[in-house]
Amino acid sequence: MPNLYLGIDLGGTNIKAGVVTADGKLIARASMPTGSGPQQVVEHMVQAAKHAVAAGAILLEDIESMGIASPGPLSSGEGIVLRSANLPGWNRVPLRDLLADALGRPAYLENDAKAAAYGEFVAGAGAHEQIRNFVLFTLGTGVGGGIIYHGRLLRGMSDSAAEIGHMIVEPEGEACGCGQRGCLELYASASRTGKYAQHLLNAVPQRPSSMRALLESGTPIDSRAVVEHADAGDELAREVWDRACRFLAIACVNTARWLDPQMLALAGGMAAAGESLLKPVLKHFSLLNWKMSETPMQIVLAKLGNDAGMIGAACLARDAHEQR
Ligand SMILES: [Zn+2]
Repeated sequence: MPNLYLGIDLGGTNIKAGVVTADGKLIARASMPTGSGPQQVVEHMVQAAKHAVAAGAILLEDIESMGIASPGPLSSGEGIVLRSANLPGWNRVPLRDLLADALGRPAYLENDAKAAAYGEFVAGAGAHEQIRNFVLFTLGTGVGGGIIYHGRLLRGMSDSAAEIGHMIVEPEGEACGCGQRGCLELYASASRTGKYAQHLLNAVPQRPSSMRALLESGTPIDSRAVVEHADAGDELAREVWDRACRFLAIACVNTARWLDPQMLALAGGMAAAGESLLKPVLKHFSLLNWKMSETPMQIVLAKLGNDAGMIGAACLARDAHEQR
């Protein structure tokens, strides 16, 4: 039997577990609702792992090691989730050891956006032999990301490398929950893009927009509604979407300047818009980017969708296992 690894992705609503081969192929999967409180969540993670193993018609003993992708902040080295915005009541939970004990396999813990970046690098958009320097932006409720530098995940001194969402793009901008002002995720996350559309509709009641019907029926406006209405030609939706894409392009130019990677991939809820996201980001990128030399960095859409974190966590577990 080939070497097999388990990836477990702890999300705010669902836990996903998958059996992954050494080259990053997902061969079996299962999911469970997240539940609440560390004890229940850990129980559900154990269940999801057992179901995935059963779905692959293998035994837990066949799993070399397992990787856990969790929202942070966390300490990968200590295997501890420090706290979590999506998981109330979490405070210094030793998630790695709890799962290793419950399942009897060695475990590794990684931030979910970093794990997703590694998954896309190994088995998704970045899976080409010549690509060794790769960056992922995840555009969801917030903005996160990960950096692969010469084939290795960059964690930083305090596990907080690639906090792309808290890159300052507007120094006099809105106050962010992190204590800074003008962070990228206030301008270019899926949730904020919807909120900004709502703000404009409320601020200028006489301005026509096809999104007004949503507002009047009490339907929350999300980034998907914004891009749908923008694609259908609504001016206000276009303005909102284009503004988000411009802020993303600023972050892309900055990434090209400080890291000069071969590829930058866009993932998460906003990336589901596909070409409707990529085209305006590329347009603003070429307007904002320097002109003194070529920029080799390709900007692309991610490929693994919601499986990236699970696959990446399993591949990180593989690396840690091989290094032992
Ligand atoms: Zn911030």
